[in-house]
Amino acid sequence: MKEHDVVVVGGGISGLSLAYYCIKGGMKTALLEKNSEVGGSFASSKYASSGKNFWLELGAHTCYSSYQNLLDIIEGCGVTDTIIPRAKVPFSLMIDGQIKSIVSQLSIPELLMSVPNLFKLKKTGQSVKSYYSKIVGEQNYRDVLSHFFNAVPSQPTDDFPAEMMFKSREKRKGVLKNYTFKDGLQSVAFAIAAQRGLNIFTGTEVLGVRLENGKYFIRTAGGDEFIASTLALAMPSAVSSNLLRDVNPDIANHLGQLKAATVDSVGVIAGKEHINLKPVAAVISPGDVFFSAVSRDTVPDDSYRGFAFHFRPGLDEKTKRECITSTLGVSMSNIVHSVNRINTVPSLRMTHFQWLEKINTMLEDKKNLLLCGNYFGGMAIEDCVIRSKSEYERLKG
Ligand SMILES: Cc1cc2nc3c(=O)[nH]c(=O)nc-3n(C[C@H](O)[C@H](O)[C@H](O)COP(=O)(O)OP(=O)(O)OC[C@H]3O[C@@H](n4cnc5c(N)ncnc54)[C@H](O)[C@@H]3O)c2cc1C
Repeated sequence: MKEHDVVVVGGGISGLSLAYYCIKGGMKTALLEKNSEVGGSFASSKYASSGKNFWLELGAHTCYSSYQNLLDIIEGCGVTDTIIPRAKVPFSLMIDGQIKSIVSQLSIPELLMSVPNLFKLKKTGQSVKSYYSKIVGEQNYRDVLSHFFNAVPSQPTDDFPAEMMFKSREKRKGVLKNYTFKDGLQSVAFAIAAQRGLNIFTGTEVLGVRLENGKYFIRTAGGDEFIASTLALAMPSAVSSNLLRDVNPDIANHLGQLKAATVDSVGVIAGKEHINLKPVAAVISPGDVFFSAVSRDTVPDDSYRGFAFHFRPGLDEKTKRECITSTLGVSMSNIVHSVNRINTVPSLRMTHFQWLEKINTMLEDKKNLLLCGNYFGGMAIEDCVIRSKSEYERLKG
């Protein structure tokens, strides 16, 4: 039995940032992650051949100067000098097999008539569809903008609260407006995991939790048991709900009310001579089987190009392969590396703020149970870190 002050379950950015705060606060902390590496939706696929290294993001791809709490952690881990700029390549639409700019697909008269609403309307209480239809015009929203919004969490976003998308936050001076890292975003996850005093257990899936005499007993698939004074769950809401079934059925039920989407992603890498597509940040093909194909062209490489296709759920492998080859104009034999990944992203609804208020009230007298993840104040990396920081502060009292 391994006893800790805090056991964090889930090694995505939510769990890692919480664990970071705990060790800096002098708490004996363990983090349990079911995959073989930490990172979660913050994962980069690596490919090495003939002495050349290449990475490709399979989930998150961009950080911003407004990610102040993340930047503090990056600084605390001593990896600020690994921040690099993203090349200015466009987010593009694919219409009938042709790459088109966003502007070319917008109705400019409709945009000019609608855009003054930007200065009059508030996002509060509005859905993404109702708010942005008024800002860019109904047709522009339906035909163009909605596809970009859907690409963010890889699911339809019409009914998301408008406040949850593209939050405006204070930017940190002296930091690139948007950036990535020399070895990809996952290098930040590794830097946090390497912090002194943090005990990381990868390949460790948690199957059950019980509470006895004020201590949490955490059972893993490998048959180990961890004991903790404080339990922190930093996983998709459904997984956390399941683990809390016996410990706290009310909280488990409340967590169980949230919906989430499964993002089925395939990352592919090919020699750059095989792909004719103009450099892009991402390709969005309205009405197609994928929400977006996010490229590595933002960090150009001499030898390779890479794309992460984020598919609609339920497709067979053949359909995915055909989509990849036709979009990129390559044959499968030109693809030198391919990797599959499943991520979970919340499906936020207009009732989310009431849901959030209630869970926070339910947790008020449960100082030793911390809940983190991308389903609280928002899905962005910074939202996850903000939640982890506030849960840490609740623990500290
Ligand atoms: C395709 C995509 C693109 C995105 N792009 C951006 C972007 O550019 N910028 C941005 O700010 N945000 C972006 N996001 C959002 C952001 O990446 C995520 O919201 C965030 O990384 C989620 O972190 P998390 O730690 O809450 O959850 P996750 O990353 O899902 O981590 C949860 C972890 O828990 C582990 N786990 C699950 N069950 C168990 C168990 N039983 N036992 C142990 N471990 C378990 C999982 O393996 C996983 O590692 C993107 C998300 C996706 C999917």
